[in-house]
Amino acid sequence: MENKRRKTHTDLECVQTGFANGVAPGFPLSDKGKEKMINRAAKAYGKFLDELGCDWRNDPNSMETPTRVAKAYVKDLWAGRYTEMSPITSFPSDGYDGIVIERNIPLTSMCSHHHQTIGGVVHVGYIVGENGRVIGLSKLNRVIEHFGRRGAIQEQLTSAIHNAVNVICEDNLGVIITIVATHNCVSCRGVKHKGAAMVTTKASGVFRHNGNDARQEFFNSLKINNGGHNI
Ligand SMILES: [Zn+2]
Repeated sequence: MENKRRKTHTDLECVQTGFANGVAPGFPLSDKGKEKMINRAAKAYGKFLDELGCDWRNDPNSMETPTRVAKAYVKDLWAGRYTEMSPITSFPSDGYDGIVIERNIPLTSMCSHHHQTIGGVVHVGYIVGENGRVIGLSKLNRVIEHFGRRGAIQEQLTSAIHNAVNVICEDNLGVIITIVATHNCVSCRGVKHKGAAMVTTKASGVFRHNGNDARQEFFNSLKINNGGHNI
């Protein structure tokens, strides 16, 4: 039997190419492709500022802003739409049949509706099946970065991360993802309420039913005080 298996982005994408929460057409972009995109987007953003009555060309604080904004989208805020995640390798679990949890994975994302940032944490749990596969913990962080660094709505982001972990950890008995996040579109515009957090959970397999032991173990583990790293 194959000892290692690799998954690439084509196994993991579940949203139409071109959508804010999907990859861009031509994904993955070359460095040259990204530079061209930044130049075009910066020009368009300058026009956007013109329409908002901002004399950015003569304002020392704003003259580079169109380029800064375009760069921030391509290289950071929406990086997951343009840059390929390196392939994730999974390994045989070697008989481990317990729960695997990584909690408090930092999340930075952006709301597709208002283009305001979303910040929070992601908790991931899965249970390896007989002959199942496990992945290195840092790989889970990479999955969260890849799908978080796009436009997003939290519900779909929860599903996208769930799908990716489910595909990578083959023959698992269940996967559970919880996201706790605050949305700047709620705190800074519209209702302007600070501190409201949104909690979403997507569960499959043994985690699916309320009162299930594995589901309980997952949520209990999120409350454990680990060397002062409270959640
Ligand atoms: Zn929003």
